[in-house]
Parts: sequence; structure tokens; C-alpha cells
Amino acid sequence: VTAAALPPAFLIADTAETLVRIGQRAAARGWVPATSGNFSVKDGESIYVTMSGRDKGSLTTDDVAAVHAGLPLPTGLSAEAPLHLARYAADPRIGAVFHIHSPAAVAISYQHRSQEELLLQGWELQKAFAGVRSHEQTIVVPIFPNSQQVSDLALAIESQLSRLTGRTFAPGYLIAGHGLYAWGASAEDAWRHLEAFDALFQTLLYFATSSAQP
Ligand SMILES: [Zn+2]
Repeated sequence: VTAAALPPAFLIADTAETLVRIGQRAAARGWVPATSGNFSVKDGESIYVTMSGRDKGSLTTDDVAAVHAGLPLPTGLSAEAPLHLARYAADPRIGAVFHIHSPAAVAISYQHRSQEELLLQGWELQKAFAGVRSHEQTIVVPIFPNSQQVSDLALAIESQLSRLTGRTFAPGYLIAGHGLYAWGASAEDAWRHLEAFDALFQTLLYFATSSAQP
């Protein structure tokens, strides 16, 4: 069974199996090149996260680690796990956090890095984001500088996110030159958000590389 042939309803009972299928789908789209990217889903009090350095297109359930509240982190967890765990800690409504290095997300994050945010407005597809009702709304996608000190980066990002109020924020952020983090109440929501982000980024790149103007 190829990833492209998987049914849309990939959320099945076993949470680790869900992450295996998400990895296959992301790999089929070229979103997680060279073992990059990582995915997590909350299941009750536990958070299931993909392990470090695995090819996301050929994950098995052995490549998924469970983080249990109050217990030490398992060894071999994705190096970027602190960014996932910080999101769950900040917002208990979050049920899944997906991170990809899609070329469109990386290019857009780099192109707009000095603005520290990307504004989306006028696009029908922005309604794919939970809570967004109109193409006329202006949606903010924060952009943070990259860092190899991931725990410090997680603290800095959450500190800034907690102070962003008064505007409509997308369910995701960019790390400049690195990639996209997106989340949702469920794995389906987070996946829909990934698809919408990537399509919107590709649309913006079209205008960035042609003489046309949006
Ligand atoms: Zn990454």
C-alpha cells in the first residue's frame, strides 16, 4: 500500500500506527526529506512522538516513543520533541503537533524572516484553519529565528506566542530557514492545517517567482 493510496481517515485506534501513516503521507509529498520532520499525537495523558533520525516514509510503530506525564523522557526521542511538548503544555486543546521541512515552508520562512511574521489574506484556503470563516480575515503566521538549542528555542517561542493577542493567528508557526510547526485539536485537524499551509506557501512562492502580483 503506498502512502498516496491510504484512505483519508488515517486516524485509527492505535496512536503509534497513526503516526506511522502520517509519516508515510508526509514523505509521499516530499515534506520530510532526509529524515527531517517529526510528528506527535496526544492520547489521554500520554504524548506519542516520532524518534530521532528515522526516515518518516518507512516508520514502524517501534519508531514511536510515548512520553508520559511525570516520567523521564524516553531516550532517542526526536531532538525537536521539546517544541512539541511545549505546545501541548501551553494549550490543553491541542491533540496533535506536526512538523515538516517542506521546501515551500522553508523558502517562505526564509524569504520573510526579517518581518518576523507572514500575513495571509484573501485566500479561500485559509478557511481550512480551525475558526477562520472568511478569506477576508488577516491571519498571522509568526516566524521565529532558528536555533540548535532546542529547549531554549521552545521557551522563547512559547514566551512570544503567549504575548500574541488581538489578532487572528494561524494554527502554526514557521522557524526561519527550517520549517513549519502546525497543530490541531486532532490528527485530522493538524493534517488539514499542514495541507493548507503548504498550498498557501506554494501559492505565495508562485507570486515571488513570477512577474504576477497577488
Ligand atoms: Zn525540524
